[in-house]
Amino acid sequence: MHILTHWIDNAPTAGTSGHSSDVFHPATGTVQAQVPLASAAEVNAAVASAKAAFPDWSAQPPLRRARVLFRFREIFERRLDEVATLINREHGKVFSDAKGEATRGLEVVEFATGIPQLLKGEFTEQVGTGVDSWSMRQPLGVVAGITPFNFPAMVPMWMFPVAIACGNTFILKPSERDPSAAILIAEMLKEAGLPDGVFNVIHGDKLAVDTLLQHPDIAAVSFVGSTPIAEYVYTQGTKAGKRIQALGGAKNHMVVMPDADLDQAADALVGAAYGSAGERCMAISIAVTVGAETADNLISRLTSRIANLKLGSGAPGTSPEADLGPVVTQAHLDKVTSYVAIGLEEGAELVVDGRNPRLTTENGQLTTENGFYLGACLFDHVKPDMRIYKEEIFGPVLGIVRASNFETALQLINDHEFGNGTSLFTRDGDTARDFTRRVQAGMVGINVPIPVPMAFHSFGGWKRSLFGDHAVHGPEGVRFYTRIKTVTSRWPTGIRTGVDTKMPTLG
Ligand code: NAD
Repeated sequence: MHILTHWIDNAPTAGTSGHSSDVFHPATGTVQAQVPLASAAEVNAAVASAKAAFPDWSAQPPLRRARVLFRFREIFERRLDEVATLINREHGKVFSDAKGEATRGLEVVEFATGIPQLLKGEFTEQVGTGVDSWSMRQPLGVVAGITPFNFPAMVPMWMFPVAIACGNTFILKPSERDPSAAILIAEMLKEAGLPDGVFNVIHGDKLAVDTLLQHPDIAAVSFVGSTPIAEYVYTQGTKAGKRIQALGGAKNHMVVMPDADLDQAADALVGAAYGSAGERCMAISIAVTVGAETADNLISRLTSRIANLKLGSGAPGTSPEADLGPVVTQAHLDKVTSYVAIGLEEGAELVVDGRNPRLTTENGQLTTENGFYLGACLFDHVKPDMRIYKEEIFGPVLGIVRASNFETALQLINDHEFGNGTSLFTRDGDTARDFTRRVQAGMVGINVPIPVPMAFHSFGGWKRSLFGDHAVHGPEGVRFYTRIKTVTSRWPTGIRTGVDTKMPTLG
């Protein structure tokens, strides 16, 4: 049995807590590794290492920090297949999708290599006679990232490249369900020349998270995961005086107008709902059709496409590669499957039932395996008061809500508790502009199903999809990981103003 390690002070470190957790191979249902779950002792060791590294690292010229990231970028790109293989084996998403995830993560590294430009301050000459004023951005200190299972490489890479480029030192607490990518990243950062202590990895569960949230030497925490835990992290962390950004769950709606190109919409919807087995925070889980004819025409297009979806391990080299793989664990499979039963009880119509799925093997034949598989499921006549509408399912389950007009469709989105992403398919510019302005969600797509911002923009939802004031990466990421200091200085010193107790003004 493979035993994983933490990564403290630039070295693999065995756990001393005596607690560990199984890491599954979702495609076969077997346990493939044990991950240690940290006690406070390991968390404290990682924080101590990061704290010791901070003075030197933060004093490095930004360009020198950027050069480490340039080297890391080259190494990561060279070893991209290795990263994607690990993701496929532990998360279950198909190999090409795993490569896509790793590549999107790499884009944030590329963004962060521009840090000398991003950290440039503001300067005003002569704010008074002989007085100049400037603002600079300085790092916070030791910061932590707590990440979910569904993007084991990309979500950590939303955080640490920007954090360390800004001069902070970092502790990553990845998901215990697919923890290996984090350690591979740590090895690559070391190879790139990152000094000891700048990047640490602690595996663990609630105990490790709580220790980080209460630790007096942690200045800020970035969290991505489900809404109840995001809210908990935000509440506990801010109470402990830390800066927190906590990204939570989602229920992303795609509105399909009667004038939309329905073939384009159906292609987009199948990819956005069932890709990565629906385990994406930007997956579309609700399609709102405007007009009865739109619904009927869209559903017929969806069912024919779903019938051609291939389910399988998507392991590197399998041909043809599956379109979607298994979900992450048996417990998650049980949860997602239970929602299918709930939807039926609630009276929604199950147009496509993905339970008892069959897999496509290499020679194109269908078989079954013991992995955590669920085929694509499609519900019609979903109503806003149903649990399958209100709650995040996080699996390959798409619901159709039939709306009679655009205003009703828009109101549905604005009334939902989540506001991560949304999208509209239409050919009408007026409708698109109106939707963009009035919709309450952080990321909006027009004829784009999954509007994930590029690394140089910022990623984050609204409402109960994000707790805190800052989105991740892009300019918001730089703001989150730095604080402003504004300096006012007088040169030459020989200028005499005499004693003046009034508020200084130019007037
Ligand atoms: P999760 O909330 O179960 O876990 C996230 C992290 O919190 C993990 O590191 C986990 O170890 C830790 N954690 C779990 N339970 C905890 C507890 N009781 N106390 C303290 N820490 C705890 O989420 P998940 O199942 O790993 O990931 C899926 C969720 O993440 C979905 O809800 C999805 O929408 C969300 N997500 C959101 C975004 C976004 O950008 N908004 C991106 C990716 C995933």
